[in-house]
Formats: sequence, structure tokens, C-alpha cells
Amino acid sequence: MSRTAHIIDDVLGAVGNTPLIRLDRIANEEGLQCNLLGKVEYMSAGGSVKDRIAKRMVEMAEKEGKLVPGHSVVIEPTSGNTGIGLAMACAIKGYSVIITLPNKMSLEKEAALRALGAEVVRTPTEAAWDSPESHIGVAQRLQREIPGGIILDQYRNVNNPLAHEYTTGPEIVEAVTGTPSTESRPSSGKVDVLVAGAGTGGTITGLSRAIKKKHNKECIVLGVDPKGSILAYPDELNTEGSGDQYVVEGIGYDFIPDVLSRDPADVNEWLKTSDEEAFAAVRLLMRREGLLVGGSSGSALSGALRWLRSERGRAVAQTKGANVVVLLPDGIRNYMSKPWFLKMALEAEPSPLARRIADVLKTS
Ligand code: PMP
Repeated sequence: MSRTAHIIDDVLGAVGNTPLIRLDRIANEEGLQCNLLGKVEYMSAGGSVKDRIAKRMVEMAEKEGKLVPGHSVVIEPTSGNTGIGLAMACAIKGYSVIITLPNKMSLEKEAALRALGAEVVRTPTEAAWDSPESHIGVAQRLQREIPGGIILDQYRNVNNPLAHEYTTGPEIVEAVTGTPSTESRPSSGKVDVLVAGAGTGGTITGLSRAIKKKHNKECIVLGVDPKGSILAYPDELNTEGSGDQYVVEGIGYDFIPDVLSRDPADVNEWLKTSDEEAFAAVRLLMRREGLLVGGSSGSALSGALRWLRSERGRAVAQTKGANVVVLLPDGIRNYMSKPWFLKMALEAEPSPLARRIADVLKTS
């Protein structure tokens, strides 16, 4: 539904309904015949794909009577974006919020959370997920001690994948099927390939279900997991760089969340990505497509391009009109002070134009 055709009740009405945007310049540079399409989630109200699950988890908990205004305290362990979505929903609904956030997550996320009125507790990044010091362990401890404390639990809550099965997935299908095939822009009329990273795994699991059950059961769903994480399947993929820390935020874990399906019928293939290739792909999305995306968007695009260059992906890459959709989960707002971004933005080699400016200003 168009967002601008009517008055919206509150900010939750501006969650989701994000655009699917052609990445033609990158596709041309890569020599792709297929369509490369980005689902741009930073255009959701809270700035990420996780707004959708926050909204659904809160609304369903309210329906089930689990949230009581003036009493309930929503506590959630998150890499930040689910927290921002929850803090946004709870700001308008009047629930208190506590977010437990590993130290590696950006200051920008903490600032956004605090600005929305949430309390933020930082936890050691290196703490194992099941240790009492981890973001999950600390959230559980707080829930036991704080009256009204409730963990909606994105790692187990069925409303996480369902939010994507019911909103993100159908939006992608609607955009693809609603765009006619023309001579200059051929389209198969189907989602042929879908690429998404996994943190909780709710996005990729829900998207796969939406697309394979209701649209195209032959769709190839590709999961992206950073080196150092253990979410990829089969497990052998995770041996290289096992235990390594990675800078990219929001994807990868040291345990398999319940909401992630590693069934090859749901996620056909997994790709492991490095920080370097992720950040190079972020730069490409900014410079070539003008999209101010965050790090995990670069992971997803770099995985997609690597697969399209591979033996298995080449046939799709060379098929006119095949639709390859890449999920771009959040925006650069979350990472403006991170060294990887500042380096990319401010320490690039001076361009010929920059050198010309320097010359002009020196002589005049
Ligand atoms: N990218 C970013 C920036 C995220 O915050 C998340 C959520 N953890 C993801 C990707 C992965 O989404 P999901 O939890 O649905 O797998």
C-alpha cells in the first residue's frame, strides 16, 4: 500500500513497505544479463529490516495479553536493530525497554536506542551465547529480577520469521510480479534467486517460506554468513576462520537460533563472506547506486556477486530477465563513526577532481 496516499496513525504504520530498486550500474559493471535488485530496508521507519519483527512481536504479545501498559518492561538481547524497532514501538505504546547489546555494536545504535528512551546494557562481545555474561545471559538475569520483565525473544519467537513471511516476502513478490517485462527491461516475472544474510535467521527463513510456498518453489535461496560464524550449512563451511571475530554487525552467531532453518529445501546454499569484501561492496552500493547501506548489505551483495560469478551461478547471471533479489538490511546511519566507514569515506585516494580543486585553490 502506498505510504503517501493517506494519513498514517503512528510511526508503526511506516514500518516496511520498502522499495525494490534496480542495481543496474553494478550489474552492468559485472557483465550480468540478469536483473540485480536490492530490497532497501533502511527506508523503514526505524531504519532496518528488524522493525518488522519488533512491530509484530509487540503486537502479538499485546494480543496474547503478555504486555501490560504501565507494568511490562520489554527486555531484549539484540545486535541493535531489533532493539531500535522495539524501542520505537514501545515509545508510542508506553512500555519501558531494556536492551542488552554486545560491546562491538556501534555507538550510533546505542545513541538511537537511548534517544528512543531505552536503557542499554553493554556486554562482552567474546562471551559465549550461553554464558551468564553474554547479551542473552544478562537479559535473562534482568528478566528474573525486574518485575514485569518480559523477553519477546527474537531467537525463538515464531513472529520473527512470520513477519518476513507475511510482509517482506510478499512485498518482494508483488514488486517483481507487478513490473511488466519490456524489451529494454526483460523480466521472468518471478523471483529466481534471493540472497540474504542471517543473524537470528528470521529474515532468510521467512522470505524463503513466502517465496517458495506461494510464488516460485524453484527459487534459489542463498544464505550469507560471515567467516567466524557457525550458521552456514553444511558445517564444514564454517571451519575456515573458525572462532575469528568479524567487524560486520547483525549477521553471524556462535549458536544456531531456533528460528533459523538450515534445511537445504529452505536455504539452498550458503556463502561465507569476509569483512573486506563486505565493506568493498558497501562502497560499490554507495558510489554506483547512491544507496547509503550498512555493512551487512555489503555482505549480502558480495555473496550474491560471488555466486553469480561461480560455476553454479553463471547460468542465472547470463539469463536475460532472471530476477536476483538481494536483501539490504540497514543503512549507514548505524555506522557513521565506525573506522571501516570513516576510512572508506574520508581516506580514499584523492580523485582527479579533488586534485584539480586543490590546484585551482592554490593558484587563485
Ligand atoms: N543485518 C543487520 C544489520 C541486522 O541487524 C540483522 C539482524 N540481526 C541482520 C542483518 C540479520 O537478520 P536476521 O536476524 O533476520 O537473520
